[in-house]
Amino acid sequence: MGHAVTLIPGDGVGPELSLATQRVVAATGVKIEWEIENAGAEVMAVEGTPLPKRVLDSIRRTRVALKGPLTTPVGTGFRSVNVALRQELDLYACLRPCKKYRGVRSRYDEVDLIVVRENSEDLYAGIEFQQGKPDTAEIIDHIARLTGKRMPADSGVSIKGLSIGATRRIVRFAFDYARSNRRKKVTSVHKANIMKYSDGLFLAVATEVAADYPDIAYEDRIVDNMCMQLVQKPDLYDVLVLPNLYGDIISDLCAGLIGGLGVAPGANIGDEIAVFEATHGSAPKYTGMNKADPVALMLSAVMMLEHLGERDAAGRLDGAIAAVIAEGRAVTYDLKPTPDDPTAVGTSQMADAIISRLQ
Ligand code: NAD
Repeated sequence: MGHAVTLIPGDGVGPELSLATQRVVAATGVKIEWEIENAGAEVMAVEGTPLPKRVLDSIRRTRVALKGPLTTPVGTGFRSVNVALRQELDLYACLRPCKKYRGVRSRYDEVDLIVVRENSEDLYAGIEFQQGKPDTAEIIDHIARLTGKRMPADSGVSIKGLSIGATRRIVRFAFDYARSNRRKKVTSVHKANIMKYSDGLFLAVATEVAADYPDIAYEDRIVDNMCMQLVQKPDLYDVLVLPNLYGDIISDLCAGLIGGLGVAPGANIGDEIAVFEATHGSAPKYTGMNKADPVALMLSAVMMLEHLGERDAAGRLDGAIAAVIAEGRAVTYDLKPTPDDPTAVGTSQMADAIISRLQ
């Protein structure tokens, strides 16, 4: 019997990357019984929802999923399926290791950061009021009555709330991760100087939780300063813990430090369930072109194998990916000296090279 794992292939470049990842996982010798469940815009057209119950049921059954990216319409249309999945399954922690692999082109020689992003609240909770609607006028009136401050009548409104419970949970997750992975320092990131009641709460709770972990250093940074510091001296940092929106933005910044979105893996983790997915999106312009870099999803699969207790296979797959990148021959365009390098290979050929290394 293998491990039962739900696979959401995703859309855009997702299906190509998922197939390449399934192949390299199979080459480790670990038996996975994939339950393939499609979601997203195409499913919406047929089933009336982009995230049918069958997808959630499968993940609740297997408790582990690997997910390709899914496109979210901008401004209008359905809400992000990626966000909905995290909310429905209470995957409150988004874990994004940002480690520089030898051979990846970057301005930095050594980067090894862990981004822990809160996934369940903040401006991603979906408490929004569309411009021009009666409810929006009502909320604007209500806020004016309570605060004496009136937003322009033609505003759209998104509400941000951070809670003690969710903050405590994510900061504990960051410290527990630091402890069990022999990390030395946790930095909480906020804008408490401006948002005194939401980010201020985040900072106060983080400081309180840090006191329970005297073996791990703790400090905090204001998010704008954090951006500059990460660009100038990323080596000063170790584990970062952030509310949802800053976590989203800083994840991409850190992906940039280690060579780009093509190589940045991730996981969304709750108490019972874990969904592994790359940081990047569906890169629609490369759909069906066998061009996108499969490394980010493959490294997410390395995290998945570790989660499944398959540490040896995870280490071998990580080593094979690292070796192919370091060699620099059978790699996709983004890992070549210039994006138009004619020696770049496609997604599936890079998977072939990694499989050869594994054998
Ligand atoms: P994106 O990550 O899809 O692409 C940004 C750029 O990064 C691409 O144009 C490409 O140059 C590069 N890139 C990304 N992945 C790559 C890869 N594997 N190999 C090589 N280059 C890669 O971001 P976007 O364009 O902002 O978003 C496109 C869609 O994806 C949107 O609908 C967005 O909502 C969605 N999205 C989904 C997820 C998710 O599924 N978790 C995450 C982010 C964005």
